[in-house]
Amino acid sequence: MLKISLEAYTQQPSVVRCTRPNCEGLLEVPVGGDERPAAMNFTCPVPSCRRSMCARCKKSPYHEGLSCQASDDKEGEIEILAKGLAKRCPRCGRLIEKRDGCNHMTCVCKGEFCNVCGVAITGGAGSHFGVPGVSCRQFS
Ligand SMILES: [Zn+2]
Ligand SMILES: [Zn+2]
Ligand SMILES: [Zn+2]
Ligand SMILES: [Zn+2]
Repeated sequence: MLKISLEAYTQQPSVVRCTRPNCEGLLEVPVGGDERPAAMNFTCPVPSCRRSMCARCKKSPYHEGLSCQASDDKEGEIEILAKGLAKRCPRCGRLIEKRDGCNHMTCVCKGEFCNVCGVAITGGAGSHFGVPGVSCRQFS
């Protein structure tokens, strides 16, 4: 009996369950217009747990100051960087996908940088590639 009513209770969109395995922590949270829990810091009420997570996207710890979507983008970026698929523009912070060929990269912000070492290039390709002490090659 109790189990059934608990299940019905946890089916409500306003009831969020702690994502820690084997933790029974539940918390009622405000629901947004789309019938999903609002993005907020859910702190598990179980004293031995106290997990911090987002009530909406369930990411732990809670992505303070970011929307769920923005934190997704951020995680995607971290993954791309970890795999070495892109370099971050040193001028504006945008991720620029690596490509084969010329390693002199130009960002949409007009920032130029080296595709190999990621350093900003300010005086044209010739100021970085082929300069003594720089092992990067302009064409790979
Ligand atoms: Zn918990
Ligand atoms: Zn979230
Ligand atoms: Zn840029
Ligand atoms: Zn370089």
